[in-house]
Formats: sequence, structure tokens, C-alpha cells
Amino acid sequence: MLYEINEKVIALHNQGKPVINFNVGDPDQVTSPEIVNAAYKALIEGKTKYGSSAGAMKLRERLAELYNVNAENVIVTPGSKWAIYSILSLLLKDGGNVVVPSPHWSSYELIVKNVGAELRLLKGDLESNWAINLEKLKKMMDDQTRLIILNNPNNPTSKVLDRKNFQDIVELANERKIPILSDETYADISFKKVKSILDYDGDHILVNSFSKTFAMTGWRIGFAILDPELVQKMVKLNQITISNVPLFIQEAAIKALDLKDDISNEIREVYRRRADLACHLLSNTKLKFTKPDAPFYLFPKCDVDSEEFAFDLIDNGVAVVPGTAFGDYKKYFRISLTTPEDSIKIGLKKIAEAFT
Ligand code: PMP
Repeated sequence: MLYEINEKVIALHNQGKPVINFNVGDPDQVTSPEIVNAAYKALIEGKTKYGSSAGAMKLRERLAELYNVNAENVIVTPGSKWAIYSILSLLLKDGGNVVVPSPHWSSYELIVKNVGAELRLLKGDLESNWAINLEKLKKMMDDQTRLIILNNPNNPTSKVLDRKNFQDIVELANERKIPILSDETYADISFKKVKSILDYDGDHILVNSFSKTFAMTGWRIGFAILDPELVQKMVKLNQITISNVPLFIQEAAIKALDLKDDISNEIREVYRRRADLACHLLSNTKLKFTKPDAPFYLFPKCDVDSEEFAFDLIDNGVAVVPGTAFGDYKKYFRISLTTPEDSIKIGLKKIAEAFT
């Protein structure tokens, strides 16, 4: 269905019929010119050779300082997606299962299946404010559970995990000695303060990205913070696959960290305004949703089959993603607010009309 929606959007674009793209999680902002210049400067200086498969030491040290860990705990990856893929492929080499609270970013599901492990989806719901049910989680874990994946804030609900809920999950994982992989890709631009997995005791894994915090999706750079032994295994995997993230891109990432407060504040405020606007425009409709705690998404519940709705909506010039792309959520759909306010107004008015 996702493929069909994309194909339909492309076909309409080619016919000169523009579609408002609420279907992609790629920020419409451009990367800051200062970051671009840092990459350019590095290119001119000849930072065009192979580099360390763990990442440039200067960048690892900067990240280590930021997260209060040692550089040997840090690995730089081509996007957080590769970090997740390589960690899962290493931890699940001998099989086992992974528990993933749902709705979930589809890549977790596809990666778990790709590495030949068993996926156990823990279904959440809007009515319980997307909290993760501890009793269900307990029942889902067994001696074959190798990992729990948390996505905080969550794509597609934009929910930040409640602190007590988070703490209970970590305690349970620690008791059973099961690591948590916490994907905090949206944390640095969240409207609500996010507690990191690194704030808790236990042998857990943080994954983060430059993609959303700095509008750098196409640069392909992310990182993970974890046990040095696992870092070394990831380094070996990098050596036989991607080699390293280009050095000039790592220089750009160092510049991004220099500007982190300014850029992330600016991006956060843009999305806070958009989220407020979206909540307002959809407030008097039949749609039910939780107010986003973070960029970029809204995940409303409707009273129709969202696959049919999404497909028909494209003819009306708006593309959204049906909830089935995020688990068993046929009556939900995801709206990505990664488009300017004018388009958001036009697109959401059309959606509102369909549900009033
Ligand atoms: N995690 C989540 C939850 C995401 O939504 C995305 C991108 N859609 C990523 C990770 C991937 O980010 P990256 O560009 O760093 O691979």
C-alpha cells in the first residue's frame, strides 16, 4: 500500500498535479549553511580519504563529552538506521526474539525479520495514552528475548514515554538482564523533556541521529553509544561493509554539534507551531489523537479503513500514510508535518472536511 501511494503521488506530480506530502518524515528545512561550509572546507582541505570505521576520534570525543561517556563507547554510523541494523544483526546472530512496542517505525520490523529473528509486537492504544503495558511486556519476554526496542519520542505517535512507565520498563529489563535499544532520534527537538536511556543504570544502548535534529537526513550520519565490546564488533562489521562515514561529513557533524542549541531550538519551535496549528485545525473533527510531545507526526484515529482513505485522499491532493505501515492500526493514519504552514493549512482542511 505504501508503495502504491508513493507511485500515485509520483504519477500525479508528473502530470503537473502537486500533492501535499504529509507522507514523508523528511524535514523541509535545508541544512544550515554553516554546516554545509564545514563540509566544503573539509573537502578542500583533502579530507577525502578513508577514515576509522569507528568514526573520527574528534567526533567520538565530542559525542562522549555530550553524553558523559568515554569515546570508546561511541560509534559513528551512516545514519541511525545502520546503527540499528548492525546492532540487531550482531545481537541476533543466533536467533532469539525482539520485543517492540507498537505502533512502531516500520524499519524495526523489517530489520528484525531481515536478520532472521522473531518480532514480538506489543500493541499499544490511543485510549491508554500510548503507554507501554508492563504486564503485557512481562508476558512477552522469555529466555529467548535478546532486546527491547524503545523509540522515545515515538514515530508515529510523537509521544514521549512517561517517566514512571520508562523507569518500570528499565527495571524489568534490568531484572531479566535484557538490553534496551533506545532510539532517541527525535529527542533533541522534542517539545517535552526526554529522559535518555543513558540516565538509567544497566547495560543499554542509545541510538541517535543528525538527520532530524539538524535537518541532515541526506548526509547519512548517526551514532550509537554502547558497551565497548559491542562497539568493537560493530567496527569489524563496518570494516567489511561501509568502511566509514566520509570524513568531510563527520567534520560537518562536528560543526552541527557546535551549533546544536541554536539549530535544535529553531527546528523545535517551527514544529511546535506546526503541531499547535494541526491540533487546532483538526480539533472539531471526528478524529481522535494525542497532542504531539515532539516533531513531526500526528497519528489520528478515524472511523474508516485508512488504506482506502489514504488512497482516495491523494486524488484530493494530499498524501498520508495508513496506520497499517506502523502495525495493526487500520483505523489510524500518520500525518507528517514536514511541509510549510501554508500547505499544512490547505492539506489539513481537506482532511478535516472528510471527518466532520
Ligand atoms: N529512527 C526513527 C524513529 C526514524 O523515524 C528514523 C527516520 N525516519 C530513523 C531512525 C532513521 O534516521 P537516520 O536518517 O539517522 O537513518
